[in-house]
Formats: sequence, structure tokens, C-alpha cells
Amino acid sequence: ISELVASHDIDTVYWNRRYQPDAINADKALKTHLNASGVEVQTYCANLLLEPWQVKTKSGDFYKVFTPFWRAWQLQLAVAPSYPVPHLPTTTLALSSDALEEWSLVPTAPDWSARFSDHWQVGEAGAQQRLAEFIADKIGYYADSRNGLAECGTSMLSPYLCFGEISPRQVYHAIKQYEAVAPEAGAGCIAYLRQLCWREFSHHVLFYFPDLPQQNYNQKFNGFVWDNDPQQLRAWQRSETGYPIVDAGMRELWLTGYMHNRVRMIVASFLTKDLFIDWRYGEQWFCDTLFDADVANNSFGWQWVAGSGFDAAPYFRIFNPILQSKKFDTTGDYIRRWLPELANCPDSYIHFPVEAPGQVLQKAGLNLGKNYPLPIVNHKLAREQAMKRYRQLEHT
Ligand code: FAD
Repeated sequence: ISELVASHDIDTVYWNRRYQPDAINADKALKTHLNASGVEVQTYCANLLLEPWQVKTKSGDFYKVFTPFWRAWQLQLAVAPSYPVPHLPTTTLALSSDALEEWSLVPTAPDWSARFSDHWQVGEAGAQQRLAEFIADKIGYYADSRNGLAECGTSMLSPYLCFGEISPRQVYHAIKQYEAVAPEAGAGCIAYLRQLCWREFSHHVLFYFPDLPQQNYNQKFNGFVWDNDPQQLRAWQRSETGYPIVDAGMRELWLTGYMHNRVRMIVASFLTKDLFIDWRYGEQWFCDTLFDADVANNSFGWQWVAGSGFDAAPYFRIFNPILQSKKFDTTGDYIRRWLPELANCPDSYIHFPVEAPGQVLQKAGLNLGKNYPLPIVNHKLAREQAMKRYRQLEHT
């Protein structure tokens, strides 16, 4: 950037502010350097609707609990429309650049990104299209359908928001405009804004607690006994746990770079509370494989499920993967989509095939342990063990 500035006689550099600790440091260093060279720097708020320092408690502290944050955030929310696209000079700068292909960014062994273009249209046009379709077809039902798995009722805008291909400000105004002409969609619109507010909350929290990706917020969890069995971690990563809802979610992640929020919670609970694997391993795997991998949302989500984070799910809220599956994927369609090996398993057993009588399994073409794994853990026993370890922690 310094070279560019020097060779093109640039007097001002503009950018949008970021909130991850390493990004803040990099941006600060760049600003200092540019200022020292006599170049002006102007920065803006575009990655969030409100800055971390704009939403504070009465005592001036940052919020640690979501509901009061959500209330305060809404009161502050007077979001100006996006700036119009500036009229830039049409002369193109002669820039020397590496060819992107030379950086060999695409994985080869294996190329797990090969099918991503089946699911994502990368870039601003893809983001705008997805927003328009979501508002036209889904937002009115969002409050009720956002947890359903058979048909995705959510916007799938997270990767676009994560990489700044669309700004929350554009999303906010599009929703508000729609709400004005379709007041019957009001409940869906407010439910959607609430989710956007979770995104803001996790970024604010990261800003004030930059250790979020590495350190338990609740220090008590530093004494928690994790097993961290590498074979079990591998089984979880490879969709081989024998719990179909977990395996379907992990397969969706591997094939598309995305996983539904409900399933993220289920697989995260399974990793931490059934397999006793430290949430940081899960966070790292998500970071490597998610298309929307975002330092704030990811580490916040993992600590929330593990029980160690801000406004976290109480530790004793341990997701039962079979009941969750029956509730949110009643017909098993989500499971069948991602685990074709279970395609012929009847609805009544698809949530936990190991309970099916031999004849049913045979008819479904299932040979457990051969073409679909046996459960790697007994959920009921794991739950008891988790509660025991948690109680020990409480007494430390
Ligand atoms: P929608 O339901 O359409 O929601 C709209 C937007 O609101 C999302 O695009 C997202 O930006 C935001 N949002 C929704 N739910 C949440 C939430 N619970 N927390 C924070 N923001 C939310 N989200 C990421 O963007 N990147 C991550 O790396 C990430 N990791 C997660 C890890 C775990 C363990 C958990 C439980 C959640 C994680 N989330 C993450 C949050 C959430 O799962 C995704 O944002 C959501 O599934 C994206 O799908 P969507 O765009 O269709 O969501």
C-alpha cells in the first residue's frame, strides 16, 4: 500500500473498520505509517450497524448479556442509507500484480472446494440476488421456519456478510423497505434483525474481549477435564459418529462450506458434551472448513454452546442429538439429503438407525459398522458423565 501511495501520488486512503484483534493491529500500523508519510486516512463503520463504543451500559461498560444489548441496540439504531457509488475517474491505474493463480490458493489434495460453485455465487451480485430472493420468498415466514431443516428457511447471507460482499446496512434497509409495504411480514423482519443483532453482539464482545478465540470467558472452564481423543475428533470431522443428524451436518459442511445454525449447535454440543473434546478443536475445524468462517461469530458460537462464553447456554443444556433430529428434521429429509447411505431408512428409524430391527436394516440396505457407522458413544452415559464433570467444576 505504501508503494502504491508513493507511486500514484495518493493523498487520502479510505477503508472500513474491522474488529478482529490482528486486523485492528494491522490497520492501526498502516494508519500510523501513512500518517507519518503525510497521507490522510479516513475510516468508516460499514461492517457493523453500530460501533462497539456506541452501545454501552449505563455504567459505560460493554454488554455481556444479549437481551439488554438487543434492547439498547434497537434504541440506538438510526442507520443512515448506504453512500451512493462514488464517481471515480475512469483512468485505470497501471498496477503491477501477481496473477492470483500463482498463489495456489485452491486446495488440491483433496480439492474440497470443487463443488462450492454449485452452492455459492461468489461476489456482490450473488449477495444481492440472495438477499432479494430471501426477502421475496422467505422473510415473512422466517420467525417460524428458521429452525426447520428439511427446507432451509434462512437467508444464507453469512459468507457475504463475512467478506463484506454485502453490508449489514444494505440488508437492514432492504428489510425496512419491505416491511413498510408488507406489514404482515413484520414478525419475520424483527426476528431476522434479532439474528443480525447476534452478529453485532459477538463482534462487540470480541472487540472488548479479544482473547475470545483462545480463552474461556468463564475462567472456571479452565479446570474442565477434556478427553480430546484424536480418533473421536476424526470421526466427528468425517461424519462417522453414528448419529445421523451430526453426520449429516458435518457432511453438509464438508461439501458446501455451510451448515444450518440449528445443526451447528447440535454438532458443537456433541463434540464438547458427548465426546469431551475442547471447543477450540471444533472452532478450529469450523474455521478451516466454513465458507462464512468469522472469528467473532465462530468463537462466540463455540463458547456459547460449550457453556464457557458470554450469555452462554447453561452447561447442563446438553442437546440430545436424537430428539433434536426428530424435532427439527421430522421427516428425515435433511439427513437423507446429506447422507444418501441412509436414503432407504424409514422415517421412524432414520434419527437413530441402530435401534431398527435387523429386518428393517436389511430392507434399507444398511449394514451398520460397514456402510454406516455404529454410534461412537452412548449419549445417555455421556450426558451423565458431562453432568458429573460439570458439577466438579462448579465446586472448584
Ligand atoms: P440467517 O438465519 O439468515 O441470519 C442472518 C444473519 O445473521 C447471518 O447471515 C449471520 O450474519 C447473522 N447470524 C445469524 N445467527 C447468528 C448467530 N447465532 N450468531 C451470530 N450471528 C448470527 N456465523 C458466521 O457468520 N460465521 C461463523 O464462523 C459462525 N460459526 C458458528 C459456530 C457455531 C458453533 C455456532 C453455534 C454458530 C456459528 N455462526 C457463525 C452463527 C450462525 O450459525 C450463522 O451465522 C448462520 O447459520 C448463517 O446462516 P444464515 O446466513 O442463513 O443465517
